[in-house]
Amino acid sequence: MIDFGYSLTPSSTIEIDDADLSLFDELCALEPDAIKCMSCGSCAASCTAGVFTDVNLRKVLLCLQRGQQEDVLPQLKSCMLCGKCYIVCPRGINTRHLILSICKIYNI
Ligand code: SF4
Ligand code: SF4
Repeated sequence: MIDFGYSLTPSSTIEIDDADLSLFDELCALEPDAIKCMSCGSCAASCTAGVFTDVNLRKVLLCLQRGQQEDVLPQLKSCMLCGKCYIVCPRGINTRHLILSICKIYNI
C-alpha cells in the first residue's frame, strides 16, 4: 500500500437502533434526571479532576445514551465526588447522586 503520510480512520457512525441502551434505561429508572442532560459540557469544563484525568461526565452520559457502555467507567474512575459539577449544571441535575447511580448500575 502506498504511504500517503496519513491513514483513514474507521467510521464512528453509531447504529442507534442496534445499540444496547439497557444501562441507560436502568439509569433513567434510578435517576430520572439523567434524561434532562443537554450535553452542555459545563460539568466537564468545571470538573476538578478533569484537568488532570479523563473524568468527563458529559461524555459519560453520551456514551450511555449511545450504548457505548465499555467507555463509561474509564471516564469516571478518577471522580472525587466533589460536587462542583452539581453547582454548575444548568439543568439542576444532582450530578453526585447521578454518578453514584451510574456506579450502582455497573455494580461497583
Ligand atoms: S464530582 Fe466528579 S465529575 Fe463532578 S466535578 Fe467533582 S470530580 Fe468532576
Ligand atoms: S452540566 Fe448538566 S446538563 Fe450540562 S452536560 Fe453536565 S450533566 Fe449535562
